[in-house]
Amino acid sequence: MKTETPYQANILIVEDQLDNLRLLSNILQDQGYQVRQAIDGEMALLAAETQPPDLMLLDIKLPQLDGYQVCQQLKAKKNTAEIPVIFLSAFDQIGEKVKAFEMGGVDYITKPYQLEEVLARVENQVKISLSSQQLKGNNSQLKQQLKLTEAAQQFYSQPQIEAYLLHQAVAATHNGIIITDATHPDYPIMYVNPGFEKMTGYSLKEVKGKNCRFLQGSDRHQPQIEQLHHRIAEGKACCVILRNYRKDGSLFWNEVSLSPVLDESEKVIYYIGVQTDVSTRKRAEEEQQRYEASLNKMNRELHDLNYKLHRLANLDGLTEVANRRCFDETLEQEWRRLAREKKPLSLILGDIDYFKRYNDTYGHLGGDDCLKKVAKAIANTALRPADLVARYGGEEFAVILPETPHEGATQVAQRILEGIRALNIPHKASDVQPYVTMSLGVATMIPSLELDLKSLIDSADDALFKAKKQGRDQVVNARLS
Ligand code: GH3
Ligand code: MG
Ligand code: MG
Repeated sequence: MKTETPYQANILIVEDQLDNLRLLSNILQDQGYQVRQAIDGEMALLAAETQPPDLMLLDIKLPQLDGYQVCQQLKAKKNTAEIPVIFLSAFDQIGEKVKAFEMGGVDYITKPYQLEEVLARVENQVKISLSSQQLKGNNSQLKQQLKLTEAAQQFYSQPQIEAYLLHQAVAATHNGIIITDATHPDYPIMYVNPGFEKMTGYSLKEVKGKNCRFLQGSDRHQPQIEQLHHRIAEGKACCVILRNYRKDGSLFWNEVSLSPVLDESEKVIYYIGVQTDVSTRKRAEEEQQRYEASLNKMNRELHDLNYKLHRLANLDGLTEVANRRCFDETLEQEWRRLAREKKPLSLILGDIDYFKRYNDTYGHLGGDDCLKKVAKAIANTALRPADLVARYGGEEFAVILPETPHEGATQVAQRILEGIRALNIPHKASDVQPYVTMSLGVATMIPSLELDLKSLIDSADDALFKAKKQGRDQVVNARLS
């Protein structure tokens, strides 16, 4: 029956019947308890006060002070009040038992003693008594520690003004501050400041232990999140701007600046995040982007319009080569430039042969069509970027060839002549060929500011006139004529 008792419990037996006293003493001593004895109330109180036992077995019926009175006196004194008392009595009566418990007894054993019952009840009470003593001991130890901690806090709170100020700053800032536990795989939130609570609408209590991802809601496909994860995986600091959602579901742009906190072994143990609501800035940026986009669009439209205007102003509507206005401007520019550079400027004037008859034969629209083909063929022969093919008038075309001497210009004119022939546009009313032909006059000059550019035009025109006169479908060079 006996269980292990690491400590030999101290039991005081109070019994005036010596045979009973001896019997109980033997039983308990056999079980390893330390037993003391008292034969009356006075002696019991004295023994209890001198050395409070772990348990007292107290006979109710004693000479002078009876058991109840002894118990009352024990309970009245501070250092004996906690001693558990098991009453011993011959009266197996319910009234006695009730009174025994009312007096503060913890149990009741009736005579004659049953060995097993006595041991079971004693052992039970000893256990309770010892563990309650241990709890009390622990308790007072804890109290002691608490006192020490409080004292230490009081001591430190004064000199650590900086820590105090830091704490105040964290509490006062409009920025959100989050501290997460980096030793845990899910980085649960340990702390958020009032700034965070205000920014997101979530309280510390609501978010503690959660991973920050709840702030993104279902909006998880953000390139910046990837970047954030990469940096965290490397244990590095980073700054990203994320779309986050407040508790009420509203969107805000959150600029999150994350910094790792390392322990002595360089292991990341916390991440501190500072959040700034940059929605206003972001909105302004978006506004700016929209503005720039519409500006770009407007610019593009303006550019297109300019291009169209330029074409309208400079191109001939029918043939899409340069018009007369563009020809005049370009020729004048080149005249001045080449006058400065003293380089040759050539001009070819071409005129379709018997075009009046062409119109008469194939109709005006047929004539227009022919003009387009002829223009295209001429444009294909002017190969240099500075060359300009223009419609000079009705069925007359001009080619400006800057920095081209007369030989080169004659070659170009010859190519044009052949190009028109190669078109092989039927012209049954022509006196020269059964297809469309052209007469061309070429003139070359080194311009000078003393000379009039009209002289170049006249010269080319004279050559053209000569080509017509000599039988058409040919090139005449003014210089050689
Ligand atoms: P030549 O061989 O001497 O040059 O004879 P030609 O008939 O070509 O010369 P003329 O100057 O007598 O006639 C030019 C004709 O070109 C007159 C006009 O009907 C025609 N013409 C001028 N501009 C256009 C045009 O834009 N479209 C059409 N279809 N015909 C035009
Ligand atoms: Mg003509
Ligand atoms: Mg003509």
